[in-house]
Amino acid sequence: MSKPVVTRFAPSPTGYLHIGGARTALYSWLYAKGRGGKMLLRIEDTDRARSTQEAVEALIDGLTWLGLDWEGEPISQFSRAERHKQVAEELVAAGKAYYCYCTPEELTQMREKAREEGRPPRYDGRWRDRDASEAPEGIAPAVRLKAPFDGETTVYDEVQGTVAFPNKDLDDLVLLRSDGTPTYMLAVVVDDHDMGITHVIRGDDHFTNSARQVLIYKALGWDVPSMAHIPLIHGPDGAKLSKRHGATGAEAYRAMGYLPAAMRNYLARLGWSHGDDEIFSTDQMLEWFDFDAIGKSPSRMDFQKLANVNGHYMRSTNDPELMQHFKVFLAAIEDGAPILEWLQQSDNENTLLASMAALKERAKTLVELKDGASYLWATRPLSIEPKAEKLLSDEAKAVLARLTENLSDLDAWTMETTESAVKATAEQAELKLGKVAQPLRAALTGKTTSPGIYDVLVGLGRDESLGRLRDVCG
Ligand code: GLU
Repeated sequence: MSKPVVTRFAPSPTGYLHIGGARTALYSWLYAKGRGGKMLLRIEDTDRARSTQEAVEALIDGLTWLGLDWEGEPISQFSRAERHKQVAEELVAAGKAYYCYCTPEELTQMREKAREEGRPPRYDGRWRDRDASEAPEGIAPAVRLKAPFDGETTVYDEVQGTVAFPNKDLDDLVLLRSDGTPTYMLAVVVDDHDMGITHVIRGDDHFTNSARQVLIYKALGWDVPSMAHIPLIHGPDGAKLSKRHGATGAEAYRAMGYLPAAMRNYLARLGWSHGDDEIFSTDQMLEWFDFDAIGKSPSRMDFQKLANVNGHYMRSTNDPELMQHFKVFLAAIEDGAPILEWLQQSDNENTLLASMAALKERAKTLVELKDGASYLWATRPLSIEPKAEKLLSDEAKAVLARLTENLSDLDAWTMETTESAVKATAEQAELKLGKVAQPLRAALTGKTTSPGIYDVLVGLGRDESLGRLRDVCG
């Protein structure tokens, strides 16, 4: 029986969850969960200046919003520094690594000399075979791997296949700096090994690192995990995705009103395919996701497509669930607090729910949903969109004045009673129903589109509806 799959997501805290990282996390999650395995979370927090509590929380918040979970507590790479050091010392004891006493000046000279001679800047191995007795006084050494000079190191990559790196290009890399701190190369190998990682899934910007890491695995006599390097995400113009293309952080997508399920679907498809399918449920992704259908070249972010996928999920999410997502969205945006407050008052949440079916048909994002529903919490006098203003001619206002009277005579305020008042007004004025309903919509919502007009009347209630009508008719 094969070993259970254990993957990990290993972000460095940068202050937010990069959308490329979010996709890496999703792939690691899908691969493990789809095979009854587990994903672990390791925070690569060795850069102490950047690894603030806030930056770590931003990562966790992004993953949680996307609905990706991990097994156990997040593991801090920094907290494992002693173990990394111990492994480096073991390699020295086994003759697989050595102390290097080069000063920073010597290393700079070495690089400059290589550059003058037109060679790539490589460490020249000057402490590789020297005896410990030659160690200078008062200089703390770094630990370097005794890497092979000849031959090549191959990385078997699940996406690109086998890629060979000439060993002469992979020099004696530093494992432990002279201040005793581990390098990223050493820490990743030791952590992946100790955490029992069977599959390393990461961006293909780590490809060369993988060759160096394979050397460390070999020196330690450890099995190299399977590796899958995912081509990066590019912007619509084909250049590496950056701020200039728009948002790069997961939290920004939340604030743009995308749903987590839509993001999972879009990100999964961005770099992986299943036939011609564009829409797949999370269960289908878990069943279908595999390395063989990961694209070999970078994928391009397509914001239009993301909006379309999101529109699909808006329409197919049931109303109460969409309401939950709407609240999460409101809590994440700057002007969301007053709307959240409004939702908590009296029966407002039900009022919005009653119109949700109509609103979500017209909204590709939660931002559009918020705009479409904004008439509900708008305060009088309403600001009227220019297109809606056009519907409010003097003639139309006269009809609305008559309607206002008819409506204020009603004993009960229901879909049926308000409908009969609108119809009666149209008959009295010898107008088609639309000639009354359209200006009515403009007066009540300030817009030309809205849920059904009787839903709007009932949703707003008698006092607010009549007030808005009087604001317009004078
Ligand atoms: N911490 C690295 C990064 O954020 C990832 C390391 C890895 O996946 O091995 O790019």
